[in-house]
Amino acid sequence: MIAARAFSEKKVALFGLGGSGQATALALKEGGAVVTAWDDNPASVATAVERGIPVTDLRTIDWSAQASFVISPGVPLTHPKPHWTVDLAHNAGVEIIGDIELFARERQCVAPTAPLIAITGTNGKSTTTALTAHILASSGRDTQMGGNIGRAVMTLNAPQPKRHYVIECSSYQIDIAPSINPTAGILLNLTPDHLDRHGTMQHYASIKERMVANSDTAIIGIDDVFCAQIADRLERAGKRVIRISKRLPLKDGMFADGLVLMQADHNRFVRVATLEGIGSLRGQHNAQNALAAVAACLEVGLSANEIQSGLDSFPGLAHRMEQIANKDHVLYVNDSKATNADAAAPALSSFGRIYWIAGGLPKEGGIEPLRSYFPRVAKAYLIGEAAPAFAATLGETIPYEISGTLDAAVAHAAADAALDGSGEAVVLLSPACASFDQYKNFEVRGDAFRAAVNAIDGVKPVGGTQI
Ligand code: ADP
Repeated sequence: MIAARAFSEKKVALFGLGGSGQATALALKEGGAVVTAWDDNPASVATAVERGIPVTDLRTIDWSAQASFVISPGVPLTHPKPHWTVDLAHNAGVEIIGDIELFARERQCVAPTAPLIAITGTNGKSTTTALTAHILASSGRDTQMGGNIGRAVMTLNAPQPKRHYVIECSSYQIDIAPSINPTAGILLNLTPDHLDRHGTMQHYASIKERMVANSDTAIIGIDDVFCAQIADRLERAGKRVIRISKRLPLKDGMFADGLVLMQADHNRFVRVATLEGIGSLRGQHNAQNALAAVAACLEVGLSANEIQSGLDSFPGLAHRMEQIANKDHVLYVNDSKATNADAAAPALSSFGRIYWIAGGLPKEGGIEPLRSYFPRVAKAYLIGEAAPAFAATLGETIPYEISGTLDAAVAHAAADAALDGSGEAVVLLSPACASFDQYKNFEVRGDAFRAAVNAIDGVKPVGGTQI
């Protein structure tokens, strides 16, 4: 655990006592702060008390005496309306911060040169974070990974000059981390997301921009117009910017030439790495993730050889185009994290002969946005509540069946794919739907898919422990 010593002897109010909120409260306590914590959920308050966290209803405290107010990233700051605690803090003029800010201040105090790679963007954050951490760790660097993935940031090991941090940051977290100053800040891409919370696309983009603007080096994916403009703006302001593109050859920066990752410096081109044969990084979207990870690793001093061997051994993340198993020419892929059409698009664009399992609790727009990928689908197997609507969208375009359950879908898709005579066939769970009609969450749905696949006679699991 990291003790938040920058807050020693200060009074700090804290709201949000879920897992990361409790970890933050304990880090503050350990650092010598006088913490007063609360949550709207009595069960969370009760477990906090059991862990020795002082609790008081924040309606009753003296706000004018608080040095800081620490909130969990899920607590609304502005939209749809500020949480009641946010109003109380604002009225008393108390700063509002989150756990990543605590981490940033602690690093600043005790080890300001500890390499910090922070990753944000609309899509690909977790993959890029896990990949970067994997490359660093496999090169023997002392590496800590956390934030919006895995461990809450204050539960990581304390900063030391040679300890590398790889931190995934959601827009919510950046919003309450005003002084995060990464060695390398990565902004992967920007598409409209979470606008219920951030109000407008401009506001959402400006929050993400702040993190890279505060970085020593800003690594920015310029394949969308918002990010391209941010890169230009930061460069005009004199920042060191590394542009990355998954499709455009750049004069300066890094880009993907097919599966080869290239570095360009004033029209001089160097081949840095290849994604050839790396199953966990298939698809153009993963070229963007890999370019960002590679750029960050180069920035903190890794060699091209160290980077290539980290890429080669990356096991991938569970439920995101996770390669589960093979049987003869059939590959089984779990993309359960694809809970809407946009998220399913990368998987559908990455394979050629797809036996597609889709459905669940439908999202607005259904699978209509995926129409251009239908020619890649040999047959669709529809499950859950969305099945009739998806069937209507598919119409006459491709063969489909309403399988109903995931087990039936896997059995039928496996049987059909086994008879496919045209090279690699992929049985793909990429539901383009939430899971809640049939499963607790997308992880449980993905686990059920994995279990059904592994029960097929003769399948061989694809090696590698998923992170
Ligand atoms: P996040 O943490 O930002 O939600 P993940 O790495 O968990 O992103 O990936 C979630 C899904 O988003 C993947 O299954 C894939 O469909 C899609 N995805 C991943 N990387 C990218 C990218 N760079 N651009 C667009 N979509 C991506």
